[in-house]
Amino acid sequence: ESLFQNTPLAGPDKIFHLTAVYASDEFPQKINLGVGAYRDNDGKPWVLPVVKKAEDILINDPNRNHEYLPITGLPTFRAASAKLILGADSPAIKENRVSTCQTISGTGANHLGVLFLSRFYRNDVPVLISKPTWINHRDIVNNVGLEVREYAYYDPKTNGLDIDGFLKSLNDAPNGSIALLHACAHNPTGVDPSQEQWRKIADVIAAKGHYPFFDCAYQGFASGDLDRDAWAVRYFVERGFELLVCQSYSKNFGLYGQRTGCLTVVSKNADAAVKIESQIAKLQRAEVSNPPAYGARIVNLVLHDPKLYAEWNDNLRTMSSRIMDMRKQLYDKLIELGTPGTWNHIIDQIGMFSFTGLKPSQVQVLIQKYHIYLTDNGRISMAGLSTKNIDYFAKAVNDVVR
Ligand code: PLP
Repeated sequence: ESLFQNTPLAGPDKIFHLTAVYASDEFPQKINLGVGAYRDNDGKPWVLPVVKKAEDILINDPNRNHEYLPITGLPTFRAASAKLILGADSPAIKENRVSTCQTISGTGANHLGVLFLSRFYRNDVPVLISKPTWINHRDIVNNVGLEVREYAYYDPKTNGLDIDGFLKSLNDAPNGSIALLHACAHNPTGVDPSQEQWRKIADVIAAKGHYPFFDCAYQGFASGDLDRDAWAVRYFVERGFELLVCQSYSKNFGLYGQRTGCLTVVSKNADAAVKIESQIAKLQRAEVSNPPAYGARIVNLVLHDPKLYAEWNDNLRTMSSRIMDMRKQLYDKLIELGTPGTWNHIIDQIGMFSFTGLKPSQVQVLIQKYHIYLTDNGRISMAGLSTKNIDYFAKAVNDVVR
């Protein structure tokens, strides 16, 4: 008998399980709409051309080595990351009230963010997460001993935002709760608040003394415009909130496996910022010691070189416009087929994902009969669609909703 005989078996991760089933399916027209990774029109992973260029520069650098990075990561990468999300002329940066730490991508930033708050903010308030949210948020929060509470977000009747429910949930939560907000391209719904709705959200968060916790996994990837996708975060900073923001370079640089991200904490003054950074460094030291260097060096090069930066912006537009084009084509085809229901949400939603409104039973038919793989909440990764499979997909959807 093992000491762990009574350890309960954990179920597989839904999304990665779906990918494994897809991989073992031999049907030629199979489609994977599960995983949130960009694919080109041939269904292939896309190494951004600007990333290839940066890699060439790095590999040919005679001073290249594999030394440890500092505990909080590559200093120039951290500074550039804060500038990218907060804006080059952010008052918070000018006033030195920003603390940054390079993290194990967006997941690590979320983890380090809640870990820090659980130790140095408070641990007697819930973390408010949207219903639904990214599949990993709940576990990340629970892992550091904090509780989650869901706030209303998605309205299945309109396939859009339930703003009244959202504001009410924020109001009903204990004062000083941690409000986990998706900065842009909400995962899994693709539904974002408008700027006017963000203003109302900020009003309630201020009135209740909640702590805004932004998760930004899609800056530039969502709209193709880095500033537009950072609007909500910058607006909250402008309003004078203390807050934190998690950045991921998985999607916008295609650096998924390189685990490249950053945690940025904005506080009231430079004194607090120094203290915060020192404690975050201590937490990081005990967990990862030093973050991985390769992805951070690539991002660092691109963010500091005007030519590469411009090329990166082009690459971002290539990805975001292909996705928007797929939204448009899917919408047009469903309308053309006279598919029952309204489909405007497909073009109104933004980012990698669309919440189709398909029911679990319909999803099962898509999987079993059509070999089209998606999660049972009806979420599809738009990046899994291409001009080559979109007809097949639209016809399948048209069939299952009838
Ligand atoms: N946060 C959200 C909302 C996401 O959708 C993702 C990725 O899917 C992440 C964070 C983190 O991803 P990563 O750890 O690969 O940066």
